[in-house]
Amino acid sequence: MALSSPTHTSPDTPEAGLRPRLRFAPSPNGFLHLGHAYSAFETWRIADALGGDVLLRIEDIDVARSRETFVDAIVEDLGWLGLAWSGPVRRQSAHFEMYDRAAQQLREAGLLYPSAMSRRDIAHAVARHATWPRDPDGAPRFERSLEASAPEDNSTSTAWRLDMARCLAIAGDRLSWREFIPPEGRLPREQESTRHARRMKTIARAAQPEVWGDVMLQRKDIPTTYHLSVVVDDAAQGITHVVRGQDLEAATDIHALLQHQLGLPQPLYHHHALITDVSGRKLAKRFADTSLRSLREAGWSVADVRAAVGQGPASN
Ligand code: GLU
Repeated sequence: MALSSPTHTSPDTPEAGLRPRLRFAPSPNGFLHLGHAYSAFETWRIADALGGDVLLRIEDIDVARSRETFVDAIVEDLGWLGLAWSGPVRRQSAHFEMYDRAAQQLREAGLLYPSAMSRRDIAHAVARHATWPRDPDGAPRFERSLEASAPEDNSTSTAWRLDMARCLAIAGDRLSWREFIPPEGRLPREQESTRHARRMKTIARAAQPEVWGDVMLQRKDIPTTYHLSVVVDDAAQGITHVVRGQDLEAATDIHALLQHQLGLPQPLYHHHALITDVSGRKLAKRFADTSLRSLREAGWSVADVRAAVGQGPASN
């Protein structure tokens, strides 16, 4: 992808000529909480401002942690918030073959290698190094040299990791993605058009996927991981604008790399701030008291939820 200036108003963004298409992509391993509500309001607000649609994707590749009760609750909670999506709901668990085909494409290009090490093996191997580097999520960075200390693997299935050095040798230093600046509040009707979307302000970000090391793309038990399925799905669903939390911003560097290697179109990205609790910690599902359903049961209205996440009428 060619870069001109760090900030520009581009007439040739990926969505040029297309009706903007966004997505909301929760993982059904818990109830939606205030953090999700903020992210959802942002996604729908930006879609509205751009004259676009929001699609719903259920990221249920983690078959051990995903629950149908949580899928039903997502649908019910979004309905309660008054957020309607376009088209059918995409379930990632229905597309394992598609992710496997993408992995196969990378394998054939010599960009994946089999890996026998479990998380525990890795922890054990890096324990001997006082300052082993960590990835942006804080996990020990996996490098191929660690594989030498892998125990004999007798299992029939194998996990597959991305050969980062090889990928970078191919992609060179051209890897980047673009953060878009969403409009403040709601745009006047006459600006809610694809013409506006085409002239979206973007900031180029140079990608540094190497900070993640050799990320796993296929697990032993599941033929994909988050990084692989998210790029395959964003392309399959024709997503033009990705709106998600800042906690996923560093991961976008890997997504840019995978899009490049798989020849997939690249959406624009907007990483919004995270809603924190009173002590400044990111709200997580473990804080059950902020789940939308417990708030609803406690008598909260949708307006209360909007106000709590700074999306009330006063801030719009
Ligand atoms: N499934 C992810 C989550 O619930 C979101 C992934 C994304 O938006 O790319 O945090």
